Amino acid sequence: MECLFCKIINKEVPSEIIYENGKFIVFRDINPKAPIHYLICPKKHIISVNHVGEEDRELIGELFLVAKKIARDFGISEKGYKLVFNVGKGGGQLIPHLHLHLLGGWRSKKERDLPHMP
Ligand code: AMP
Ligand code: ZN
Repeated sequence: MECLFCKIINKEVPSEIIYENGKFIVFRDINPKAPIHYLICPKKHIISVNHVGEEDRELIGELFLVAKKIARDFGISEKGYKLVFNVGKGGGQLIPHLHLHLLGGWRSKKERDLPHMP
């Protein structure tokens, strides 16, 4: 399949994987926009939020539980963080495989408020 994130999931393309289970993979964004910038990716090839189906209800619920766990594991739960989905070209989505950006780890409000949107 000609999908970069499917290739990362299949380990055909290297990435810095920080967590993996049967349904999800989490890896470091290659061009981080924050001190912590991970991509939480279902292994199922869903193109975008626009392509999430009724059959994906449980998977999408689990996606948020993975986000919560990663935030906790990396010590940013209490301080706070951002979760971002870019949807479609107009929304800035470059990779057509659903992924949730997890951003955090800023040391100050000023640092957080610098232009950093993924
Ligand atoms: P989006 O614009 O929402 O589709 O986000 C795609 C993200 O994937 C961007 O933040 C890129 O920096 C990141 N990215 C692209 N290629 C790779 C890669 N090989 N490994 C890790 N992250 C990547
Ligand atoms: Zn894919």
